[in-house]
Amino acid sequence: MTPTGTDSAGHPRPVIDLHTHSAVSDGTETPAELVAAAATAGVDVLAITDHDTVTGWAEAAEAARVHGVTLVRGIEISCAWRHSSIHLLGYLPDAGDRPLMEELARARDSRSTRLERMVALMAADGIPLGYDEVLAQVGPDATPGRPHIADALIANGTIRHRDEAFRSWLGDDSPYYVGHYAPDPVRAVELVRAAGGVPVIAHPFTRTRSGDLDDALVERMRDAGLAGLEAFHRDHGPEEVARATALADRLGLLLTGSSDYHGEGKRNRLAENTTAPEVLDAIEAASSGATEVLRP
Ligand code: AMP
Ligand code: FE
Ligand code: FE
Ligand code: ZN
Repeated sequence: MTPTGTDSAGHPRPVIDLHTHSAVSDGTETPAELVAAAATAGVDVLAITDHDTVTGWAEAAEAARVHGVTLVRGIEISCAWRHSSIHLLGYLPDAGDRPLMEELARARDSRSTRLERMVALMAADGIPLGYDEVLAQVGPDATPGRPHIADALIANGTIRHRDEAFRSWLGDDSPYYVGHYAPDPVRAVELVRAAGGVPVIAHPFTRTRSGDLDDALVERMRDAGLAGLEAFHRDHGPEEVARATALADRLGLLLTGSSDYHGEGKRNRLAENTTAPEVLDAIEAASSGATEVLRP
């Protein structure tokens, strides 16, 4: 499933990991540290895809040059769908595109308000936490998210790993859950395409409060310009991979795979799932060229 190492003719195939996070969103390493970790892990092509921001691109680009890693600059957009959030990867969009950047800024602003409300609900219920402690966990210009609440609870000794916070208080089903402004998934696909980027649904069959993503929505997203589905991902078992493969066949979509690495914030390891070189070529060909794949 994960084409790494050599191809059937014994030729080396590059290791391509197209979904990772830095401390510019909810990863635990700076963009430069993320790229260094990727080089150490044997990743040849890395995509940096922080939540709702391109702030990490410049630092990652510099580090990629130093470490000889090929860099795909991207984003992961949280989209509002029914009562859940679905995630859209956008590869190689133009960072100067006003409509897309304004949409991301709006989502980031709303994320701050939303974390403050979640903390207030938790504190009212006796969970020892102040919003200032949460802010202390968010890096400069970083996109705030629930993992930063978890980090504050780790810092004050309440828990040991983010996982515990998500199981107890931060899950989508939690009474403390508060949503934030996020674009509709079809609109997000349109925005990424209009910015010259290539949209791929991240981990489409991760379980959400709304149950599974329905095929009709994926079809509408395809009609709006969706390019692919991230089939090979830790949140997917064989059934989800089979479902993504069948759906991609029917709708003419690409299949990608990646780690969704968050440093120490998640158990996901770099390159635990990867994308085929032909698929990366197709993604690059589908982009406008405004943001290029950076080769060392
Ligand atoms: P938010 O963007 O604020 O809605 O928070 C969602 C983020 O939390 C996702 O991007 C995940 O990276 C992270 N997350 C979800 N579940 C867990 C978990 N069990 N452990 C660590 N991080 C998680
Ligand atoms: Fe995340
Ligand atoms: Fe995601
Ligand atoms: Zn992600």
